[in-house]
Amino acid sequence: MVIRSKTLRLVILTSTVLITIIVAIQLVWLQKVYLYEEKQFNINVSKSIRSFYTDMQLVNDATDNVQKVIENVNQDVYLLKIDCSPNLEQLWVNLKGELIDFDVYTDCRAAIYSVIENKYIAEQYIDLPDSYFPSQSKKALPVYKRDYDYIILYFPHRGQYIVNQMKFWIGSSGLLLLVLIGFGFSIFYLYRQKFFNETQKDFVNNFTHEFKTPLAVIKIAADVLHQKNIIEKPEKLKNYAGIIQEQTAHLQSQVQKLLEIAYTDRSHLPLTKERFDVNLLIAESIEDLQPLIEQKKGIVKTSFGQCDAIINADKAYLRLCLINLIENAIKYAAVPVIDISTKIDPPLFCIAVKDNGIGIAIEHQKKIFERFYRITDGERHSSKGFGLGLNFVKKVIDTHKGKIEVISEPGKGSTFIIKLPCK
Ligand code: ADP
Repeated sequence: MVIRSKTLRLVILTSTVLITIIVAIQLVWLQKVYLYEEKQFNINVSKSIRSFYTDMQLVNDATDNVQKVIENVNQDVYLLKIDCSPNLEQLWVNLKGELIDFDVYTDCRAAIYSVIENKYIAEQYIDLPDSYFPSQSKKALPVYKRDYDYIILYFPHRGQYIVNQMKFWIGSSGLLLLVLIGFGFSIFYLYRQKFFNETQKDFVNNFTHEFKTPLAVIKIAADVLHQKNIIEKPEKLKNYAGIIQEQTAHLQSQVQKLLEIAYTDRSHLPLTKERFDVNLLIAESIEDLQPLIEQKKGIVKTSFGQCDAIINADKAYLRLCLINLIENAIKYAAVPVIDISTKIDPPLFCIAVKDNGIGIAIEHQKKIFERFYRITDGERHSSKGFGLGLNFVKKVIDTHKGKIEVISEPGKGSTFIIKLPCK
């Protein structure tokens, strides 16, 4: 089981690494596409401006290299040097026409700067046909001090426009990511399912073994008891009857475990509540486990507070819980000394089962309540179990709207505390 859970972790890790690599490659590609679109935008704006200069004759020396009269202050702002005062109406119409001709479809704020007045003397908002961001910015255009007149072109939504041009790429990357995540989840669930199936298979195999051995022993003992002259050997008779009794008790406890499994498989436990004395129930549970306690030469002490121990709960289930906790306390200690105490901590009734066993390391303390979870190190290997008992106990306590806690230190022992509502 440990190996399989390791494989499960490996599968998750590999899928995560693969998805991360693919996402990283996608991001690099998106960045490349962004740079390409940005470059394309700049080229288109430059082409529009060149054509604009040719149409409008804005500079005295038309042979002047256009590049010299254009200044790209930053990515969003272009300054176009002019030597004359152009006809405004014609200027805006021409500008808009050129931008459209060269596929620059994002809105643009244009203005004319006068060096004498050191401010913009005319401003126009150029709303382009495909402009996705028509809202006109109210912010004043920044003034760039130059010793010549110029037309400023400011593209307030350049970034968004470029991103918008990349719609297809972003969409397809998003889709790919979704497919990958879906794929990752499917692998995870399929593997988890497989993991559970195999654990269950293991479990059935173990259980068959657990039943086979006592049945074989009972059969042998019964055969012996069947012998004709057995009545003349009372010692032998007693001995074999004892074996049958012991093995039947073992089988009984296995059947009880099977029932627990059936219950833990259900999402909802039907409770039959009644009022009863918990202290009495504890005494009865200890009595049930007496053979096991004697076998391990253990001691079970009880300290019941001077309180009214009547609660309203499902007696049969609570009995199984107590048996599970006491059985574990016996199982996981060399010579068990167990202390069971009860007290009322309104509105809760608390039952503590304290042992002097091997203890549970902090990293396992939460997990021991999970289905099939067993701590598989050192001496624990020798004690039989399926990792279902505590899961069952937690389920019962949760259904009662109670709590189960564990306080433990390896080598020093553990205390399991059940807290149940009194009413
Ligand atoms: P199991 O059938 O293995 O005992 P449980 O669900 O009852 O299953 O317990 C889960 C695991 O928690 C056990 O395998 C054991 O390692 C640990 N455990 C439970 N109770 C104790 C205890 N009193 N002392 C030490 N370890 C315990």
